[in-house]
Amino acid sequence: MSQQHLFDTSPPEWEVDLHTQRQVATVVLAGGAPGSYDYVVPAPFCDPGRPERLLEPGRRVRVPFGRGNRLVEGYCVELATQAVDARRLKEIAQVVDATLLLAPVMLRLTRWMADYYLCPWGQVLEAVVPAGVRKLAGTRQVTLLEVPPDVAERLDQVSLRSSAQCKALSALAASPRPLTAAQLADTAGCSTSPIQQLLKRGLIDAKTKRVSTDALDEVAVQRELPLQLNQDQQQALQVLQAALDQPEAQGIVLHGVTGSGKTEVYLQAIEHVVGFGRQAIVLVPEISLTPQTVQRFRARFDAVAVLHSHQTAAQRHHHWQRIARGEVQVIVGARSAIFAPTCHLGLIVIDEEHESSFKQDSAPRYHARDVAWERARSEGIPLVLGSATPSLEAWQRARQGGFRLVSLPRRVLGLPLPDVMTVDLRDPGQARGSTGGISRHLHQAMQAALREGGQVILLLNRRGYSTHIQCPACGHVLNCPHCELSLTFHKQSSKAHCHYCDHQQPPPSSCPDCLSQSIRYGGLGTQRLEKEVRARFSDYACARMDTDSMQARGSHERVLGAFRRGEVQILLGTQMIAKGLDFPNVTLVGVINADTALHLPDFRAGERTFQLVAQVAGRTGRGTQGGRVLVQTLSPEHPAIRAAVRHDYPSFAAEELTQRAQFQYPPCGAMIRLVVRGPREQIVRDTAAALAEQLQQVLPADEKIRVVGPAPAAIPKLRNNYRFQIQLQAAEIQVLRSVVEQAVAQYRVPAEITLAIDVDPWDMM
Ligand code: ADP
Ligand code: ZN
Ligand code: ZN
Repeated sequence: MSQQHLFDTSPPEWEVDLHTQRQVATVVLAGGAPGSYDYVVPAPFCDPGRPERLLEPGRRVRVPFGRGNRLVEGYCVELATQAVDARRLKEIAQVVDATLLLAPVMLRLTRWMADYYLCPWGQVLEAVVPAGVRKLAGTRQVTLLEVPPDVAERLDQVSLRSSAQCKALSALAASPRPLTAAQLADTAGCSTSPIQQLLKRGLIDAKTKRVSTDALDEVAVQRELPLQLNQDQQQALQVLQAALDQPEAQGIVLHGVTGSGKTEVYLQAIEHVVGFGRQAIVLVPEISLTPQTVQRFRARFDAVAVLHSHQTAAQRHHHWQRIARGEVQVIVGARSAIFAPTCHLGLIVIDEEHESSFKQDSAPRYHARDVAWERARSEGIPLVLGSATPSLEAWQRARQGGFRLVSLPRRVLGLPLPDVMTVDLRDPGQARGSTGGISRHLHQAMQAALREGGQVILLLNRRGYSTHIQCPACGHVLNCPHCELSLTFHKQSSKAHCHYCDHQQPPPSSCPDCLSQSIRYGGLGTQRLEKEVRARFSDYACARMDTDSMQARGSHERVLGAFRRGEVQILLGTQMIAKGLDFPNVTLVGVINADTALHLPDFRAGERTFQLVAQVAGRTGRGTQGGRVLVQTLSPEHPAIRAAVRHDYPSFAAEELTQRAQFQYPPCGAMIRLVVRGPREQIVRDTAAALAEQLQQVLPADEKIRVVGPAPAAIPKLRNNYRFQIQLQAAEIQVLRSVVEQAVAQYRVPAEITLAIDVDPWDMM
């Protein structure tokens, strides 16, 4: 959209003599007004002799906008010399960035995202460039902390009342080089406020410096040599190397069972890439971004940068600049690391590609896998998708979409996969005690494993104590007043919690509906399971891992450390324990209830169940004692569970894809989900209906498009907002996108309503 359309006070087209050749910048506004706007570039911003204010695509500008000519920030996305009537266009007011913020590949990639995910380009840009980079762009100044020599000399005489200050001071004194405040806080395990106190008292010095980035590198690590690959790994590596040596992009699905040595294959492929002076991006799920994971990369490469969402703005800025200057070989990070501004990217790896954390659940609702493929295509490099349980999207691409499939069907060092058996919970003989979660069979298996000195992992994907609070007289279930979801009772707080909005309330002593005095606490959560385990196995130590017990900083590492050292024999928890853990002494894994996700109104319910069982099963049998898995379920005959028991991903995928094809569910069809939400139910309902009406009007007659809804979403009320959804399906995504784009453009959503457009939705609730 150009300004002419907005302010139509323009002279008629035939006044050509007013048109002269000018530099015109196309600008998208930061944060979201849709469309783009043209501005004339005044001469001072066109002077190559003044690079710090030279305007080029990929730098930010400030421009006058709207009737009042309010100055707003935007991104210059294009520059062209055009014959224009300069009086009809406003001028760029200021160039914000002294250097390039976004390289041309990033502009292309974000443009693609804006089109594909139906999200304003400016909003995509704001999401992609870390806020720290935007704020500090152009500076390379870092404030470094040091203990002044006179303080260092009399360190043992310094008396400090606060233990956090003590820790921070001694950590800084012990550090071989100056640290930033964020690094020091990390090292000392404190916040920045004790550091500020130390600064105030003159016990540490701060110097703002233009630093060589090595000074900021993390602690040195023990170097490791590459392992001797086994035959399967070698074949996989050859496929990767062949793809690296060819000029076109190549997608590769690396399907390797748990413990098959996928990471070693990535590492050696990256060595190849780094050998050419290029960089690699490795995406891992947020929860796998542990010090151990990062360590494996640091042990092989000199310059590894880590990017994740818990970093401070300054840390992100620092890494971003290092990467942009070409000082980093390998970037390891969560979802958003796909936007790392590398100079010569050579390879992208996504490990545990099936994980849901690769999809962003706020706008732009992108999936890192798809963005990665777009980036790989535009840079002509390979994309490796590794998993023991590939997403059906990846698997389908490998079967018929041009991706290569490489398999590592065996565990390294010839270790067998564990035996998996189901325990049918419908069999009354299995019940032992009326409310317990551990069947007779599982109890015996645990006894045997523990007696032989093995360790046990128990998975229960429900946190809290009781997962619902119900009146047995009238059936009333206690729901959150802000969400239409049942409350979970938590033992520590003795309160009923909503797991979606954090609402807490004391549990009622009588039924709020029929006033009956008998309230029942039903459903098993991890807290209750912990109590049961402690009662049944009082001779052994047990630890629980879920988001409630893992709140404190470092608690994750502490519990896993105790488990690794054998101080804890039984580890129980939510899906947090299902992934990535590698403990050779775990000889038994028990899945308390494999059905928790199986009956959700989500077409991926079977896939998620398969993944969870297969992944948690992968936690055992990693040592010489072997391992076994018991899966408790009410549906032992369900195909997802049967396939997981046999470690048979290919037949699970084949059966599941047949079903998806029948209903045209992704990846056998395309889907867009619209969610309308707002505080008043009637207005939400009316808006959804009006949108559906708009959609009907723009549906092309010759295309088969299925419109489901409008209907209340599976979670009909969340944080005081009512939610309605419309789901659109078709064979191809393009036709859905254009339908939604047209319908939305023609309908003004009421101010109190939020409309979320989710292309390729992952969350169906
Ligand atoms: P995956 O990522 O497939 O689950 P990992 O790469 O984590 O597997 O490997 C599992 C374990 O096997 C790791 O401890 C790793 O060091 C080891 N390993 C991998 N490849 C080899 C090999 N070729 N020889 C010996 N050990 C290996
Ligand atoms: Zn009641
Ligand atoms: Zn709630």
